[in-house]
Amino acid sequence: MSGDTPCVYTRTNSQFLLNSDFDELIGDALYDKLQNPFAEGASAASTSSKWVALAASNLSYSPPPASLKSFTTYLAELPGLDHLPRDSIVRQSLSLCLITYVSVLLMYFGVAGFSYYFIFDHRMKLHPRFQKDQVRREIQHSLDAIGPLTLMTVPWFLGDVRGYSKMYDTMAEGPFGAEGGWKAWAYMAFSIALFFWFTDITIYYIHRAVHLPILYKKLHKPHHRWVIPTPFASHAFHPVDGYFQSIPYHAAAYLWPIHKTTWIASFIAVNLWTVFIHDSDMISGHFLEHYINGPAHHTLHHLYFTCNYGQYFTLMDKAGGSFRIPSKGDDPLDLVLATIAEKEKEKGGKLSKVEVMEVAEAHMGPLRRRLSGESSSSTEIMASDSSGEEEEVSLATKKLL
Ligand SMILES: [Zn+2]
Ligand SMILES: [Zn+2]
Repeated sequence: MSGDTPCVYTRTNSQFLLNSDFDELIGDALYDKLQNPFAEGASAASTSSKWVALAASNLSYSPPPASLKSFTTYLAELPGLDHLPRDSIVRQSLSLCLITYVSVLLMYFGVAGFSYYFIFDHRMKLHPRFQKDQVRREIQHSLDAIGPLTLMTVPWFLGDVRGYSKMYDTMAEGPFGAEGGWKAWAYMAFSIALFFWFTDITIYYIHRAVHLPILYKKLHKPHHRWVIPTPFASHAFHPVDGYFQSIPYHAAAYLWPIHKTTWIASFIAVNLWTVFIHDSDMISGHFLEHYINGPAHHTLHHLYFTCNYGQYFTLMDKAGGSFRIPSKGDDPLDLVLATIAEKEKEKGGKLSKVEVMEVAEAHMGPLRRRLSGESSSSTEIMASDSSGEEEEVSLATKKLL
């Protein structure tokens, strides 16, 4: 374990991505370059100030006010970031901000990009509820959220780096020590299972809470703007909503001992799952749909708003009365395929890709425009969904579909 002593930078083992490795690989070299930009300027300024003073005496100019001079001197004397030792809380915070921000961006564009190009069914973009310029707006929304979300998340990582979390770096530091044998491995498996069980339950309640009218409008509605989401919507949250829904993952590291590598792997898996359930894929009829909350379930959540709040399992939705099993008639792609099939029947053959797009423009375009005109009022109905007005929401959604 990391030990109970706070403010310990040099933990007994590798920090694994969260500081010493970073410092050795990049941090030290980076901070060495971050000297006080005013220091050099100030010495140059002091040289030039002699000339300014000389010129001023000859030309009867007034010297710069003393307050300005003392301010520049003050700036010049400030230490640069290169002065920060590795265990400085400022340096650790800055490093963690950088590591977190870059990692989330890489993960977001890498995984969501892969899912969008290789898994997401692009015919879904012909659906009337798919908005104009949606992918660009999903990405923009995510980018707007990732910065503030990083700032809110860093204190959790900082707490770990400074020895407050219950994560351990090696088996020897785990609850069963170096000689724990199979028990140490069994505990590791248990701690991972606990992580998924705990986060599944708590995120269910948090997700339901942000559907309460008082929170929905400001916090969660931005994510429900995407009725037919693409994987790029996976991080398109209001930053506070995204943060609320991530608290259980971070809290887990402070509640029971968990091996750091397994925590990081689980956290990455959670992020992958979040992207995966936004690919709008509606496979139905598989027995696992009774137990696993997959893309079909989350697509239904985006379509109907009051069902399938869950994360990985369907257990909580079943217990909370919000479970909706994906069925054949639920697939939003049906509408698109029916329109294409109708046109192919008229033509007496298959449509080319270009013709499909023309069908989309001719048939979906006006419908899409009409629906986007209606969307604000229907979203208002959806906003009040969590008070049990499921029927009203379903009616609103049916009208739109
Ligand atoms: Zn929701
Ligand atoms: Zn979603």
